Amino acid sequence: MNILVTGGAGYIGSHTVVELLNYNYNVVVVDNFSNSSPIVLDRIREISKKDFKFYEVDLTNKEDLEIVFKENEIDAIIHFAALKAVGESVKKPLDYYYNNILSTLYLFDLMRKYSVCKFVFSSSATVYGQPKKCPIVEDFPLSVTNPYGRSKLIIEDILRDMCFAYSSLDVAILRYFNPIGAHKSGLIGEEPDGIPNNIMPYITKVAVGKLPVLNIFGDDYDTLDGTGIRDYIHVLDLARGHVKALKKLEENPGLVTYNLGTGHGYSVLQLVNAFSRASGKKIPYTITDRRAGDVAVCYADPSKAEKELGWKANYGIDEMCQDSWRWQSKNPDGYRETAKG
Ligand code: NAD
Ligand code: UDP
Repeated sequence: MNILVTGGAGYIGSHTVVELLNYNYNVVVVDNFSNSSPIVLDRIREISKKDFKFYEVDLTNKEDLEIVFKENEIDAIIHFAALKAVGESVKKPLDYYYNNILSTLYLFDLMRKYSVCKFVFSSSATVYGQPKKCPIVEDFPLSVTNPYGRSKLIIEDILRDMCFAYSSLDVAILRYFNPIGAHKSGLIGEEPDGIPNNIMPYITKVAVGKLPVLNIFGDDYDTLDGTGIRDYIHVLDLARGHVKALKKLEENPGLVTYNLGTGHGYSVLQLVNAFSRASGKKIPYTITDRRAGDVAVCYADPSKAEKELGWKANYGIDEMCQDSWRWQSKNPDGYRETAKG
């Protein structure tokens, strides 16, 4: 099977490409490196000892994108490519709608034109907005609070409309909770541009001495220690979830939607402590104001994915922290510096 992976040079995409190659899928990666580095591609080849096709294409350029469909008989698409920084999306909404939605519409047009019927979409727990309770089940009401989240919800809605209209379509919407961790080799991992928005890359940058102190956004939530609770999931578990989703689509299920989380919530302070245990590094932190738009508690009920996909997260918080630290300590400057061995 030929799988087109958009955003395959990115954090979750690169780990998923490795997993797909391990399962002997033929992989075609498209990326414009807007938030990634070409070095990732060599690292994927090094880890998997397999090759794949790559196109440096911006998905908002439909003519260039069509070349990929012309030159490859694509059987399924896993669509990771997107801009993903919540705060930036508030400041630059049009960039987010243009990049995330227009590119996806072009993909959909080309899917129709080239009769590609299987599509896996990277959605997010952000589409649950401010959930009334936890754990979150897939049929909870959906709402969003920022343009990034809205771009995800709009695409989900378009997919639901398309599946209603076109019975040949098989779509898996995967709602990720909080991906952290890295490949066991330490060769690929998360490398945000500039100051990280997400907590784990921020913690690892403090640990490696690139940032002085972690700001913890609020300790007055109604949680065990006052800090926010999230469902952190190992990126390797997430990657495996995509292979399971592809296998599900082979059964022609129509539209399916799954939470990919562990079902366990950890507070910011619990995460910081787990990271210190794993790395032997003390993480200096200060408590600051709450971050606008943050929810107190967010964790998944992942039982639908377990029942229908046979997927369940295997890695615990300690291993997630160890693997994030291995990646960061071996690559203190990310992909800008090669550090092997
Ligand atoms: P990432 O930024 O590391 O990867 C996205 C990749 O897409 C990058 O390599 C980027 O260069 C590429 N890209 C972006 N726009 C493109 C375009 N127009 N044309 C071609 N390539 C383009 O992000 P990630 O963390 O790997 O996230 C992957 C997907 O998962 C995204 O859709 C994101 O919204 C979603 N998601 C991520 C998280 C998270 O916390 N990381 C949580 C929930 C959902
Ligand atoms: N957080 C924090 N400091 C940071 C980044 C995040 O205290 O520098 C907290 C944030 O308030 C939330 C948790 O860490 O409780 C996870 O935040 P992240 O941005 O990683 O994920 P999301 O908010 O999207 O769930």
